[in-house]
Amino acid sequence: MNIVKAVISAIFPNICAGCGQVLDGDEYFCDYCFEMLEHCHADKICRKCGLPKKLCECGKYIFHFDACAAAFRNDGIAKKAMYAFKFRHKERLARYFAEQMALMVSQRYADRKFDYIAYVPMTRIRALRRGYNQSYILAKELSGILKIPLGVGMLGCSRDRRKTQHKLSRKDRFQNIKGKYFCDVRLDGKNILLVDDIKTTGATFDECSKQLFAAGAGSVCCIAGLITYNKKKEEKNNGN
Ligand SMILES: [Zn+2]
Ligand SMILES: [Zn+2]
Repeated sequence: MNIVKAVISAIFPNICAGCGQVLDGDEYFCDYCFEMLEHCHADKICRKCGLPKKLCECGKYIFHFDACAAAFRNDGIAKKAMYAFKFRHKERLARYFAEQMALMVSQRYADRKFDYIAYVPMTRIRALRRGYNQSYILAKELSGILKIPLGVGMLGCSRDRRKTQHKLSRKDRFQNIKGKYFCDVRLDGKNILLVDDIKTTGATFDECSKQLFAAGAGSVCCIAGLITYNKKKEEKNNGN
């Protein structure tokens, strides 16, 4: 058995999700990359938008969800690892991100009780092209860790010719995404934990929340693996 294990690890060595160096054990990161991960701190983020209080964007956009939080800043090692999970099918990393997201949920939403976990859906064509929907995988892991039922298919995504969000300006993302998602089930006052891999402007979370509320949800709190900071605002803050 040990020989089989040794052969497998020789052919498929465990590599650091940050820098790619071969690791001896089954860790996700080497010591250096692990230290470099930029965790979000539950006590330092805005309750509503999930950004550090200094970078809060609640005055700029009107968000419909009740609250938002994320495990890491969308930068550096965490960004690389999420990319590896999404595009290079490193599914093992889903467990790590889900564990960190669960930790944030337990800190940030300690006073809340969720009835269901929902996740941001993908059009079937996109999911087929990529091989899977990363938000669904994260939500499934979170459902197992937090013991909250997973609302499979609670949110749907219409097939259309909209532009992909990451090519648009922050402002245009809110407009582009209108009407993209739908919720066909009745949620009579249920409290929803909504999962996505990355929160950029919050436009996706916002649009999905609107649909969940329209279906009768009592509350919607969002949790993302990563959250993007507005670098211009950050530089301006640092300069002052
Ligand atoms: Zn590393
Ligand atoms: Zn805010």
